[in-house]
This record gives sequence, structure tokens and C-alpha cells, in this order.
Amino acid sequence: MKTQFFSSLVLLLIIFQACGQNKESKNTASIMKENEIKPGNPHYSHTDTTKLNLTDAEWKKILPEDVYLVSRKADTERPFTGKYWNTDVKGTYYCAACGNILFRSGAKFASSCGWPSFFEQENKKSVVYKTDNSIGMERIEALCGRCGGHLGHLFDDGPAPTGKRYCMNSIALDFEPDTK
Ligand code: FE
Repeated sequence: MKTQFFSSLVLLLIIFQACGQNKESKNTASIMKENEIKPGNPHYSHTDTTKLNLTDAEWKKILPEDVYLVSRKADTERPFTGKYWNTDVKGTYYCAACGNILFRSGAKFASSCGWPSFFEQENKKSVVYKTDNSIGMERIEALCGRCGGHLGHLFDDGPAPTGKRYCMNSIALDFEPDTK
């Protein structure tokens, strides 16, 4: 009887341990999936809309140098050199620094300026603005609504229906083509 009790106890312990291991491997799998999207950047997500407030040093550590210089130091890529200024593939554009959804390809238009241009942001929170007087003229700086990273500028010479032109740096964007 005693042996039977101990056997059952051992069996129960094995089952509990197996369940625990399963849970742990699931968590590890989901973390790995996020990291696969952007290796080395634990804040990158297409679904998490929590605002990010990282220090400059933290951004520098997790972003590739070209993304860091545009996103955190408002650098501008040379026109006609970026990945997306001349593309019209259907899909979605995300912030290259944090993964926040920014634009749909349907709002992209062919602009002669040499940078990817859009007439409308994906949703109200996608892009936010700030007055920029950095080159002796007043411009509207466009920033990621989640991480506050520099994306480009917003002008009033875009096409209908909005009349807006979001003039973006390709380096600040990630693009995912539609799957169907
Ligand atoms: Fe962002």
C-alpha cells in the first residue's frame, strides 16, 4: 500500500514537472518569435502599442547604426537612394525602430522627391508631429506615435483626398508585403 502511494506521488511529481516545462518552452517560443521579427530589439512589436520611453543609450544599443541616426538623431537619407522611394508593392509599413504600424501601401503615391511618400497615416496614433525649425525654415516633423522616433516631415502639397505628403526616410520604415 505504502509503495503504491509513493509510486502515485512520484508519478504526480513527474506530471507536474512536465507541465511546468511545457509552459516554460511556450514562453520561450513566444519570446523567440518576437526576436525573430527584429533580432536584438526586445521592444519591437507589430501589436504592442505601449508607448516607449527609452534613453538615447538604450536606443543606440538595440538599433542598427543607420536606423539609430535617422530615428534618434533626425538624420536624412540621400534622395533616390532608399529602399522604398520607388516601390508600389501592396503591404504595410512599420516603424523600423519599434514596429509600430505607420502606413498602408494604398496611401503611398509616386512622388518625384526621392523619398517614399504617403498621403495618409494608418491610424490616428501611427504618426505624431512637432514643429521643426532646424534648417532656418518652419517644417512639421513627423514622428512615430509609439517610440517618438524621427520618420521625416509632413507637407501640404500632397494629392487628394488629404492634400498631405508624408515625406519619409526608407531607413525609418520596415515593409511587409501582403500575403494574399
Ligand atoms: Fe517607432
